[in-house]
Amino acid sequence: AKDMGRDTFCYYEAEMDEEVQARAELVTDLRKAIDKGELFVHYQPQFCLENDKVSGMEGLMRWRKQDGTVIPPYKFIPEMERSGLIVAAGEWILRECCCQMMRWMEDGWDGVPVSVNVSMHQIFAGDFPETVSQILEETGLPAGMLKLELTESVIMVDVQEAIAIFSQLKQIGVELAIDDFGTGYSSLSYMQQLDVDVLKIDQSFIKHVTERRGDAVIAETIITLAHNFGMKVIAEGVETADHVNILKTLGCDQVQGYYYSKPLEADELIAFVRARADA
Ligand code: C2E
Ligand code: CA
Ligand code: CA
Ligand code: CA
Repeated sequence: AKDMGRDTFCYYEAEMDEEVQARAELVTDLRKAIDKGELFVHYQPQFCLENDKVSGMEGLMRWRKQDGTVIPPYKFIPEMERSGLIVAAGEWILRECCCQMMRWMEDGWDGVPVSVNVSMHQIFAGDFPETVSQILEETGLPAGMLKLELTESVIMVDVQEAIAIFSQLKQIGVELAIDDFGTGYSSLSYMQQLDVDVLKIDQSFIKHVTERRGDAVIAETIITLAHNFGMKVIAEGVETADHVNILKTLGCDQVQGYYYSKPLEADELIAFVRARADA
């Protein structure tokens, strides 16, 4: 039994070493990926339910390795968060999205606000509002064309600090959205202190919204809450015509999901927009 215990211990230790090593390698690769320009952006359009027009888009990070394989965010964003690399990568995608929208506008499209995900680590590292101002100045993008997506967890880390930073960001003129709304622990009392423009209903509530009464009630409650506070609502993970219909009935403002479009490469996105004559 003693020996077996030791073997078990060694077994776990070896397995853990392997995991630690794999993670260290991933961090090294990711650091190089940023420097070598292996990160790129997919843009997913968002639509206004009232007029069916493209109303915005979300920039989503992708990693194309040297061998050409494209790695989805769930395989590398968590490690970027743990290692702190998300601060540099987050600044990179912010600049890239602003640059890209500015180029489209220079090419004659009126453009739509581009939404960028911001990690909690970025918000509390250095002077984030100053970084945002600098990028807008550098790229020439009007502040109103940039929307930042933050999660409820950001708020809960340090409520007072979050309120201060949100208000600085609003003063710059960017729009603020709470991402994955309904999955976190935000308190209603903070909602009125945070000057937020948009609540994004998490896709987990949309998936079964047509067959689960509870999910429809949650969606409806978020929409009513948002509207009563003067906010707009975007539903994500909209995959079917039934999803669209129920969200219209519930008074949702905008939608994003595979039913309309998957996230697209930059040139595919502009072709999509032009084909719909939205540009
Ligand atoms: P998210 O911010 O909630 O982004 C929405 C995710 O839902 C995207 O996954 C998108 O491709 C996916 N999606 C869109 N429409 C549908 C649909 O109809 N059905 C389903 N099932 N999924 C849909 P993606 O691109 O894999 O990104 C996953 C997550 O990774 C994002 O979730 C976000 O939390 C994180 N992420 C992506 N890019 C960035 C980034 O630049 N910075 C940070 N901090 N996080 C990012
Ligand atoms: Ca998002
Ligand atoms: Ca989301
Ligand atoms: Ca999500």
